[in-house]
Amino acid sequence: MSPTADLTRLSALDLAAAMAAGEVSSVEITQAHLDRIEAVEPKVHAFLHVDPEGALASAASVDARRAAGEDLPALAGVPVAVKDVLATRGTPTTCGSAILRGWRPPYDATVVRKIREAGLVILGKTNMDEFAMGSSTEHSAYGPTRNPWDLERIPGGSSGGSAAAVASYSAPLSIGTDTGGSIRQPAALTGTVGVKPTYGGVSRYGLVALASSLDQAGPFARTVLDAAMLHEAIAGHDPLDSTSIDAAVPPVVEAALSGDVDGMRIGLVRQLRGEGFQPGVQARFDEAVDLLASKGAIVTEVDLPHAEYALAAYYLILPSECSSNLAKFDGMRFGLRVGDDGQRSASEVMSLTRDEGFGPEVKRRIMLGTYALSKGYYDAYYGQAQKVRTLIARDFAEAFARVDVVLTPTAPTTAFRLGEKLDDPVAMYLNDIATIPANLAGIPGMSVPVGLAAEDGLPVGLQIMAPAMADDRLYQVGAALEAGLVELYGHTTIEEAPQL
Ligand code: GLN
Repeated sequence: MSPTADLTRLSALDLAAAMAAGEVSSVEITQAHLDRIEAVEPKVHAFLHVDPEGALASAASVDARRAAGEDLPALAGVPVAVKDVLATRGTPTTCGSAILRGWRPPYDATVVRKIREAGLVILGKTNMDEFAMGSSTEHSAYGPTRNPWDLERIPGGSSGGSAAAVASYSAPLSIGTDTGGSIRQPAALTGTVGVKPTYGGVSRYGLVALASSLDQAGPFARTVLDAAMLHEAIAGHDPLDSTSIDAAVPPVVEAALSGDVDGMRIGLVRQLRGEGFQPGVQARFDEAVDLLASKGAIVTEVDLPHAEYALAAYYLILPSECSSNLAKFDGMRFGLRVGDDGQRSASEVMSLTRDEGFGPEVKRRIMLGTYALSKGYYDAYYGQAQKVRTLIARDFAEAFARVDVVLTPTAPTTAFRLGEKLDDPVAMYLNDIATIPANLAGIPGMSVPVGLAAEDGLPVGLQIMAPAMADDRLYQVGAALEAGLVELYGHTTIEEAPQL
């Protein structure tokens, strides 16, 4: 490695190799990323909290262990950014909300604990839509994140900060969470790789819940193999999460290394392509499918007949669950407390706190969910939505009886402009039309970059979905696409991103 190499341009794998070869220290790598953050943050605002002291201390400890000849995990010393919805002991965790301003959790989320055990260096906490509600990161109480490809555009959401941190080379890796698309959609809109693992594949302990039956944490990276390595580091059974699956982690790293799709049966979802998708998005998708076919994949069409009801079912199930999950933010236990003057009653303080602490989208969903769960409406709304959910899971089961994976474009359009959909919640919700079905069915999904849309030069993502606990198939197809596109264009999508 040349002494002038820009460490922030390297993949996690290359950084790990350079450290193992003694060419560079984790402190040097970490400092390079902290410098990069300082340079680009005024434009991008991917972070809510940067932790230089904590990061450099973890880096120094990895370097010391390496110098002592210790056998270290594969990613030891590599920096990572973590979405601010995961509890990090002693450092601020706000979920992008004013109501948690100043809250410092007394414990680490399991994902965070695993990251530390893997020797990864946490650079800081990333920006997000408040409590992960949104598709643009504009619903953060701390101001929006901007898309590194075009600073007038949104980076997607709700994990927009984690996506932008990786796309702007402020971190080689990051963690997001995905309840309806919040990892895959921002990955698509920033030209990065983003994965929602199988529901229950990664522990939710310490992940501040939006909708407990849908939430799942997962990796962002600039390459498929990097994402696989981070996925492997955070996955696995956790007795602290009762929905965690007690089974071996799917062989995601081997799959990413193989990238073999010869004979693999690939299904294109008839209901989730073509109409309603931007022509340049559809064109890149079709080209990527041809590429897989040229590598021996067997391409057919499949139906998800109930996919058209997924969005409606999701926007009943999610508000119902979140109205219950967010009841604990009452000014008594965490963060903000308003109007506690010794005169007012506890319930007055609670309502003043919730009025000031929650933004409009959060209030909208709490009200929707409370209504949907109320006596007399429960069966008509929540009960009905749960039945639709079962039908969608069955659709997938039938599709997977015929094919190994199903593909759709990740998002209907490329990144839109800041403010464009802010006053129209339904237009915002429609962004997740292709990603929500996987959350409802509990199956894994990946967005992999497949080039730029002709009409606007912005990145396009292709979504791969597989049966539960077959996460490795995502990496197999993702790696095949990544390699095929490099053969075709000579570089990956993210390498076309403008220099900030
Ligand atoms: N955009 C979707 C929503 O607003 C998904 C959010 C998420 O996955 N956290 O609910």
